[in-house]
Amino acid sequence: MKYVANLTCEPNLNILFMFMKYVVSADPFANATKQVNDACDILGIKDKGLREYLAMPNKMLRVKIPVKMDNGTIRIFTGFRSQHNNDRGPYKGGIRYFDPKGGVEYMEREVMALSSWMTWKCAIVDVPLGGGKGAIYVNPKTEKLSDGELERLTRGFAYKISEIIGPEKDIPAPDVYTTGREMTQIMDTFSKLNGNKHSPGVITGKPISMGGSLARNVATGLGTAYCVKEAAKVKKLNLKGAKVILQGFGNASTFAGEYLEKMGAKIVGVSDSKGSILISKSAKVEKILAHKQKKGTVVGFPGSKKVTTEELLTAKCDVLIPGALENQITADIAKKLQCKIIGEAANGPTLPEADPVIYKKNILVIPDILANSGGVCISYLEWVQNNMGYYWSFDEVAGKMEANITKGFKDAYSLSKQHKIDMRRATMTLAVERVVEAFNQKGIWP
Ligand code: NAD
Repeated sequence: MKYVANLTCEPNLNILFMFMKYVVSADPFANATKQVNDACDILGIKDKGLREYLAMPNKMLRVKIPVKMDNGTIRIFTGFRSQHNNDRGPYKGGIRYFDPKGGVEYMEREVMALSSWMTWKCAIVDVPLGGGKGAIYVNPKTEKLSDGELERLTRGFAYKISEIIGPEKDIPAPDVYTTGREMTQIMDTFSKLNGNKHSPGVITGKPISMGGSLARNVATGLGTAYCVKEAAKVKKLNLKGAKVILQGFGNASTFAGEYLEKMGAKIVGVSDSKGSILISKSAKVEKILAHKQKKGTVVGFPGSKKVTTEELLTAKCDVLIPGALENQITADIAKKLQCKIIGEAANGPTLPEADPVIYKKNILVIPDILANSGGVCISYLEWVQNNMGYYWSFDEVAGKMEANITKGFKDAYSLSKQHKIDMRRATMTLAVERVVEAFNQKGIWP
């Protein structure tokens, strides 16, 4: 695994950036930093120190977590919490349990990058929170940890990060292979360490009975659908009868599909890990889900034909929702796209070299940090409800999330028109501008 050593925030180091082209995909934090620098270029921020301030995390904590395993041995795990930026509010971001191929050192860079993206995601939808991310290098699925081992690991990690988290400091949430159960254990550990002070606001993504929010389960897909609704307005596309293709058929994509259906759209193509299908007469998400539940895949759905991933992505439709994996839309695929709007429910589905091709074709991309920000919006609303001890209905929560996401879309869209840049760069530029504004208000102290 190669990294760009001593990550640069220099604006004009073209040679380094040429070098970075070859290593960017290997180092997510170099990628995140490049995006910050691109936004700084557009904003005319030349100060190297400010660029570095915006790129680097404020704090990166690496901890050792000893756990007594069921067989009596002791195993040492490594955990991280990256606190990227809190100029606009407490750090916010998930905790994942995973074992990326690059190992522990790669995970450190990944967590730093993910915490940076959280800063921009919160800023674009204007929730008063900053960016954070945490992780433990472990794969609870393949390693088959018992419930007891997992709980001791989770509570051990919560203990190690307890000094830097808190409802007014840093509010974690679930991520890859963590659920409401782990969130409850972290909340309980934190509360007990703080003299039994009930602290539901220390973490979000909790079960409803533990102070979780209604609408959290559908939040990401619902947020994507709200974004598409706004994009359709500016593209003068009537969503009634609009044809939608969903890549992936999991949490983010199925709820995006269901809510777009409620707005009048029709699902004409879907995929999952076993294959892709195009449906000649369109079908309801509910029916495809029922088929998947019975057969274990969307493939074979009555009235559909199996196609390749490329055929799915490039089929004629109005709205394409890449909602599964990273790096799906290459420059080559971009040339063949036939949609009018792309709503990136997944993180990083489009390769950087595809963006200019898509922009030239006048396809409107709703970039991931905006299109899948419904989750963090509702996490924010969960935290607000916890802090005031009063809970809203589903419609109240969804309505507040819609207001934030719609405003984020409109702000980014008008910036993209003003600067004649694509929505990805507009979104990032706006987010960076908002953080810089907060930083300038506070200044540097001590
Ligand atoms: P999920 O596990 O619920 O669903 C993933 C889907 O992708 C599954 O249907 C799986 O079959 C499908 N898939 C896997 N490999 C595939 C392949 N090769 N081709 C086509 N489909 C394939 O996951 P999710 O929570 O829906 O997350 C999906 C994406 O959305 C990820 O990029 C995630 O980071 C992003 N996201 C999710 C949330 C959320 O709240 N769920 C929030 C923000 C971003």
